Amino acid sequence: MRKQIVLASNNAGKLREFSAMFAPLGIDMVPQAQLGVSEAEEPFPTFVENALAKARHASLHTGLPALADDSGLTVEALKGQPGVYSARYAAMNGFEKSDAANNQFLVQQLAEQVDRRARYVAVLVYVRAHDDPCPIICEGFWQGEIVAEPRGEGGFGYDPHFYLPDLGCTAAELSSERKNALSHRAQALQQLLARLSAEH
Ligand code: IMP
Repeated sequence: MRKQIVLASNNAGKLREFSAMFAPLGIDMVPQAQLGVSEAEEPFPTFVENALAKARHASLHTGLPALADDSGLTVEALKGQPGVYSARYAAMNGFEKSDAANNQFLVQQLAEQVDRRARYVAVLVYVRAHDDPCPIICEGFWQGEIVAEPRGEGGFGYDPHFYLPDLGCTAAELSSERKNALSHRAQALQQLLARLSAEH
């Protein structure tokens, strides 16, 4: 019999990506909204705490195993910011809530900085039940540098400013297939897949 996992996100792109990865394991991903689950609060300063809170919330309200993710950008010269606040970095500083405003604010913050190192972080948390004492936690990291001039049309968020020195391009200049094979999220997903395959 196929198994159901509730996805603690209503993002259509993530649902597609996760569903495709888990289908071969006989696992169907169900978005939490389809089961009447509201969005959980994400009040914590770390990715892992927020992902765990979201996964527990979804499992508690459905009785199903749940998967949640949390991701963002951490910048060395900004002591790890914007971190868990990546989606609302500009809005928290008095500007509009958009990718363009986030990028403009980030570039401004780094204007005087020589150290341009940054990394994308993705944390995936899987709980078998809301009170699972041993959640599966997988982390993926993608190292890059923030460039002042945007390059590329692909991806989303900070991608046009996220330069990959090894590849000689920004994340927004990669095809979606390439990005989905290399990214922080892809790395965390591969780990999770290996852990879940061992359990099923
Ligand atoms: P969420 O985990 O989908 O809520 O993403 C949080 C925020 O982190 C996004 O809104 C983006 O600002 C940033 N972010 C996370 N992953 C990526 C990525 O792959 N490219 C660009 N920005 C990202």
